[in-house]
Amino acid sequence: MKTLLKGGTVVTSSGTRRADVLMDGEKIAQVGRALNVAADETVDVTGCLLFPGFIDAHTHFALDVCNTTTADDFASGSRAALRGGTTTVIDFACPNKGETLKHGLALWHEKADGKTYCDYGFHMTIDDWNDSIRAELPEMFAAGISSFKMYLTYPAMMIGDENVYLALRELKKLGGIAGVHCESAGVINGMIAERKAAGKLSPASHPMSRPQGLEAEAVSRLLRIAEVADCPVVIVHLTNHEALEEVERARKRGQKVYVETCPQYLLLDDSLYYQDDYSAAARYVCAPPLRDKSEQKYLWRGLRRGEIQTISTDHCSFTLAQKDAGREDFTKIPGGLPGVETRGELIYSYGVAKRNIHLDTMCRALAENPAKLYGLFPRKGIIRRGSDADIVVYDPAASHVIRASDCVANVDYNPYEGFVTAGGISRVYLRGRLAVQNGIVLDGPQGKYMVRGKNML
Ligand code: MN
Repeated sequence: MKTLLKGGTVVTSSGTRRADVLMDGEKIAQVGRALNVAADETVDVTGCLLFPGFIDAHTHFALDVCNTTTADDFASGSRAALRGGTTTVIDFACPNKGETLKHGLALWHEKADGKTYCDYGFHMTIDDWNDSIRAELPEMFAAGISSFKMYLTYPAMMIGDENVYLALRELKKLGGIAGVHCESAGVINGMIAERKAAGKLSPASHPMSRPQGLEAEAVSRLLRIAEVADCPVVIVHLTNHEALEEVERARKRGQKVYVETCPQYLLLDDSLYYQDDYSAAARYVCAPPLRDKSEQKYLWRGLRRGEIQTISTDHCSFTLAQKDAGREDFTKIPGGLPGVETRGELIYSYGVAKRNIHLDTMCRALAENPAKLYGLFPRKGIIRRGSDADIVVYDPAASHVIRASDCVANVDYNPYEGFVTAGGISRVYLRGRLAVQNGIVLDGPQGKYMVRGKNML
């Protein structure tokens, strides 16, 4: 099956150009001006932007956490991703402490294989460290996993500075990379205990017990550990300028540091936690928490300057009924927001259209950089001959209002309810097949597991 997209503007990391795109089977066969070739179908995309399929390198589908399970499993979550122009997700496989990485990987394949609507890969969580886990790492690379996750907070997940160092040394040897959740566990626990003792149990205590300075402290500590371990790291879901300053310091020392932020930190702020209505506030609980509105400009600036390389969502959805678990105690609110369905339209609308973020910056942050960082490039992340025919057809002249009721994610609210988009996704192609048209997901679960290579960013 050959499909020709005619009259569009192809977005790349070095700008835009008017070009037709010929897809042949699962691959892009040709990109060029006024292609005069035979195709089974020719689609007029005049006036539209053609982005490489977006990659969301931070999702949590079908995750058992906070005594419950995320509302979205791989089917509903990846369907929502696809509808939002995301043709590849990288989810976090997460063995429990005491389990092998191999077991965690098998479990994630069980959750995802045959059920996933977009292409997918896994990062592997290292939430335990010993000789047998160390010995398993080469096997992970062989299974297509080149990136790992570690936590500097959450007792169930954290392994401590010594083991973070040892794990980074091992990843250095193997050419792997680690994304790290940076918040200072100990001090945060102290602040939580203080608020609980004072009877301050509402959602407002969530951001108040996780101040941004403690994120910056953990970033700084991690980067000093990474410096002596001589290993590149990714700061996942960075939220504020103090944390970003620590990254800049490490870069001046010569370190390789990559930064991810998320739409919620670019577009939402902590005033949402201070609403009197429990449910209105609890739905925004995530960690790190939303920050003061004044932080947003630093994140947009970091993106513009290339200090922030990727935008992922940290999609970790819970229904309002699940969020109700913390009515009497803010620490029992399951933490996480849905976002996988709206990232592309939000970044275009509130970045490109409203803040003059360049299209090439958006293309890098949502597609090319995650593809390079996580070893999917050039199969993914670029519209080029030989790459997978994953294409988002974006109509800048369209507009709609984001409503939970229109979304297909399995969650009964949307953090961006009422946001008006500039433009909209009119079509999504996944490996050459039309997968989404005008907001309707057309296809079943066609997602393939992606064996990933090493970081090339
Ligand atoms: Mn996460």
